[in-house]
Amino acid sequence: MSSVAVLGTGIMGAGMARSLMRAGLDVTVWNRSLDKARPLADDGVKVAADAADAVSGADVIVTMLFDCDAVAEVMGRALAATREHAVWAQTSTVGLTGTRDLAELAARHGRGYVDAPVLGTKQPAEQGELIVLAAGPRELEPKVAPVFEAIGSKTVWVGERAGDGHRLKLALNSWVLSITAATGQAIALARDLGVDPQLFLDTIAGGGTDSPYAQLKGKAMITGEFTPAFGLAGAVKDAELIVEALREAGDEPSLMQAVHHLMSAAADAGHADEDMAAVVHAFRR
Ligand code: NAP
Repeated sequence: MSSVAVLGTGIMGAGMARSLMRAGLDVTVWNRSLDKARPLADDGVKVAADAADAVSGADVIVTMLFDCDAVAEVMGRALAATREHAVWAQTSTVGLTGTRDLAELAARHGRGYVDAPVLGTKQPAEQGELIVLAAGPRELEPKVAPVFEAIGSKTVWVGERAGDGHRLKLALNSWVLSITAATGQAIALARDLGVDPQLFLDTIAGGGTDSPYAQLKGKAMITGEFTPAFGLAGAVKDAELIVEALREAGDEPSLMQAVHHLMSAAADAGHADEDMAAVVHAFRR
């Protein structure tokens, strides 16, 4: 039985740890705020008080922390305690520069590194139905396969270079963030022109311009139910990473800069801890 450490039990990490446990793996978690990790003990997960303790017996270490700085800080301390054969599966969204830095950190400690950002949000994380966008040396695949099979319904091996997983992830998130902002704009426009915004969702329903995501986020915008599945603070962070990636690719970043501007404005107005559907607030001047 593989032994897995999950560092970070926020919205995503907690669900992933439960999915790993259901798959019969031996799971230890650590979280900076211990109170968020403790409830996982009810599912049979071991809760460590220290990241180094959590990783010391693990074959695979999964990091699911907010951003690159958090991952670098935590793994900078914990890597020395990992076993020689341990593989680090880095699932947080950290961007292209972040992935290069973290892969180098792993190499300095002589540990295998798999770039493994995920597609899917709170519910798929809890149900083991994420899509894992993996990249790294193929010889590491058998070591991480039981972990990816437990947290995901599908693993896409994007390439052998660390960063290939993130290249696809940033393209996917550019779509997810854009469609959320575009939905917010349509809802706000209908509402502020004096038309019931539900009619926008009802009119596109089932047609060529419909999308389940627009229906989901649009409903949240209309009802004002912003319990976070994909938090606005994380969306602001991702928009910034996508702008950087567009520049690195030599592409025009202005659409994602506008999305970033709107999401930052909504976050600064007090909605940072809400779902990114709260971007709808940014449209009211
Ligand atoms: P979250 O609920 O906000 O959790 C963030 C986690 O990072 C928490 O465990 C938090 O610890 C920890 N953390 C933040 N700053 C830290 C620091 N300086 N040192 C140590 N730990 C720190 O976020 P999430 O939604 O689970 O997202 C986690 C990652 O997955 C992010 O990179 C996000 O972009 C990515 N992602 C999210 C989704 C989604 O839909 N939510 C989907 C795909 C990928 P505390 O509890 O102590 O604050």
